[in-house]
Amino acid sequence: MLTVYNCIVDEHDLRLVILAALVCTLASMAAMNLLHQVLRSRDRLRAFWLGVSAVSIGFGIWATHFIAMLAFSPSLPTAYDGLLTGASLVVAIVLTGFGMWAATAQRKLDNRLAGGALIGCGITAMHFTGMAAFEVPGHLAWDPVLVAAALAAAAGFGAAAVCVGLARSDWRARVCGALLLTVAICSLHFTAMAAVSILPDASVEISQSAATPFWLAVAVAIASFVILVITALALWVDLRDQQRSRLEVTRMQGLADAAVEGLIVCDGQEVATANASFLALADVSAKAIAGRPLATFFPHRAVLDRLEAGLSEVFEAELTLPDGGTVPVELISRPVSYAGRPHVAVAVRDIRQRKANEADIHRLAHHDSLTGLPNRRSFATRLDAELDRMAGQSGKYLALLCLDLDRFKEVNDLFGHAAGDAMLQKVARCASRVLDDGHMLARLGGDEFAVIVPGLAAPASASVVAEAILKALREDSQTAQSDGLASTSIGIAIYPTDASEPEVLLSHADTALYRAKAEGRNTYRFYEPKMGVEARDRRLMEHELRHAMTRGEFHLVYQPQKLLDSGEVVGFEALLRWTHPERGNVSPALFVPIAEENGIIIQIGHWVMETACRAAASWEKPLTIAVNVSAVQLHQPDFARSVETILAKTGLAAHRLEIEITETALVRDMSRALASLRQLKELGVKVAMDDFGTGYSSLSNLRAFPFDKIKIDGSFIRSVDTNEQAATIVRAVLGLGKGLGLPVLAEGVETASELRFLAAEACTIGQGYYLGRPAALETFAEAEPHAADDASRAA
Ligand code: C2E
Ligand code: MG
Ligand code: MG
Repeated sequence: MLTVYNCIVDEHDLRLVILAALVCTLASMAAMNLLHQVLRSRDRLRAFWLGVSAVSIGFGIWATHFIAMLAFSPSLPTAYDGLLTGASLVVAIVLTGFGMWAATAQRKLDNRLAGGALIGCGITAMHFTGMAAFEVPGHLAWDPVLVAAALAAAAGFGAAAVCVGLARSDWRARVCGALLLTVAICSLHFTAMAAVSILPDASVEISQSAATPFWLAVAVAIASFVILVITALALWVDLRDQQRSRLEVTRMQGLADAAVEGLIVCDGQEVATANASFLALADVSAKAIAGRPLATFFPHRAVLDRLEAGLSEVFEAELTLPDGGTVPVELISRPVSYAGRPHVAVAVRDIRQRKANEADIHRLAHHDSLTGLPNRRSFATRLDAELDRMAGQSGKYLALLCLDLDRFKEVNDLFGHAAGDAMLQKVARCASRVLDDGHMLARLGGDEFAVIVPGLAAPASASVVAEAILKALREDSQTAQSDGLASTSIGIAIYPTDASEPEVLLSHADTALYRAKAEGRNTYRFYEPKMGVEARDRRLMEHELRHAMTRGEFHLVYQPQKLLDSGEVVGFEALLRWTHPERGNVSPALFVPIAEENGIIIQIGHWVMETACRAAASWEKPLTIAVNVSAVQLHQPDFARSVETILAKTGLAAHRLEIEITETALVRDMSRALASLRQLKELGVKVAMDDFGTGYSSLSNLRAFPFDKIKIDGSFIRSVDTNEQAATIVRAVLGLGKGLGLPVLAEGVETASELRFLAAEACTIGQGYYLGRPAALETFAEAEPHAADDASRAA
């Protein structure tokens, strides 16, 4: 160290040494800026800037060396060989250029270290070639240790200069890099100069062609000028590029911010910048984004690798938020040039809405939207799976419960669809409450629900579930608007006892449900094989009923209604008959309930009404025609209008038509029934209460509507003369009629003694086999057609 110091202070002109250091610093500064320019450029432009950098640093080293040589005063005449001096410049340019190429070939530390060391070697090679051009009358002796130290210093500082100078692109890094390069050049020079000793020898002559220090000073001045020009050029280009990239970045940022999708620009695994949409999505501030590792947002290695690859393929991932939450996103990455350098742009699309939509679609496809319960599809899938699972197990049972709301249609009609919907939701809620996790409640459609209860130890355990559901519904019913109406019937079929196929099991549960309904509702029944036969027969009859009308299998018979004192016929009751091709005559008591259940009664009832009215309209005498009307018909909102149309069509006077309704029809939907009855009354149609005494026998029902007649049910009349209890009831009803001012008709009068009893009790009208069996109209003289009708018939 001391040798080097002595060499600088004692053997050099310090002013020129300072000048050499200045020129060196200037050249190094230019070289650093130019190296950044090389990094930013590509292809031919890159080669151009590499060349310019090599020339700049080559001239810089060369000029530094020779100014320092001018500062060297060995107190002997000196000169420089022109050719070797020129060669040293070429060596400097070529070797440092090679080093620069190596340093910038790849953005890796290894490249920078190797490239920097190569530049150091270039400086050394230039120095020794330059020293070979140095001529003095004497010999040069070299200290190998100092020579090695000089080489090491040049390579070491060169490597450090490149690493520091290219680590970042800001001016601090560049200045540090340039200073380290200056140190590399100067340390090489002065250490190498300290390594040399001149041994004067008068026999050695300076060649004639060698340049004197004057000419060397001229060459150095030119070289320095070249460096100045190149430095100015590098500075100008750098400033211009920086301005351009700033503009480009601002423009890109503006564009990117306008995008709805999130955009991130990444430099390797680091975020360079991001647009406003991404900042909002990832909940990060604009200030905090630059330099953040991409892994902060996408922690999974596989995602990072795919992004870095920039393959322009869309894939889904999860964006991690600062609070630890995640957002499902769709990503696509592709390489872009940003701020003059290659980057990867990542488009980030928020797919929360899409995911929510997908989930909705899935839910809709598998669930019922009203109750939120699994739908028929999910139910079928689960049932299949459960049966598959249980196939191998013995001693375990699966119960399938089918639920159907009692009187759901009436709730819908009476209180509107909103109340009907609320009732379905209520049933879903109540039933879900009492079921275990392993059970499945599904809505199969309409008012049909089903429950899968797997893993039962005994079939009878299913009744516990059924009872719990019924109880929950009963308890909940207290508060609802459709009070008391929300009840359900349940049919139960057991796997494997009843069936092993899901469809058969479901059909059996349905049959049991039907039985539960037929046996009083609001209860449950287990499937029994004999139910199947009945249910099939019933379904068959239902099917045949649908076609009976078109096949003309219906006809009417008429039963006379007579005054008991005179025996005079005051009217006829029309009674429906079905003559089935195989079954023969089917009783209305059997088929009317089936027709009511599936609504076919509306069509049939319309036909009965029209046929009966047409017949009555043709009679000579203005007798009454009584027509039985089902509750289902009466609850039709347009029932009164259809009667009015029939009256107009057949020409029957309204007061001659008497509609017979049962108390049950009234009770099921009081307000709807009353509305229809009032409309009928307004038309002038009469209304009779049929089968009084068999249903609720409620006085309030009688009071609720101004009936025109009470018909005491035949079952009371039949034993009236022998059974005192029946006699009391008949007397009471007759008294009731008198009190309300209503005529009372006794049905089912079969014997003379019954007739006598009734006459004695001041019953005015009667109907029954004793007074006249139901028969075709032609058999009754009272039902003679008009003369005009006769004439037209004869014609
Ligand atoms: P209902 O309206 O009470 O009709 C009287 C029933 O008693 C008729 O039975 C009739 O044949 C029967 N009957 C009459 N006198 C006697 C008697 O002295 N002894 C006995 N044992 N029975 C007698 P039918 O025709 O079998 O009708 C049964 C029920 O079917 C009717 O009872 C009525 O509720 C219903 N029905 C009949 N036709 C129609 C119709 O066109 N529409 C509707 N909705 N229901 C009808
Ligand atoms: Mg009747
Ligand atoms: Mg009756």
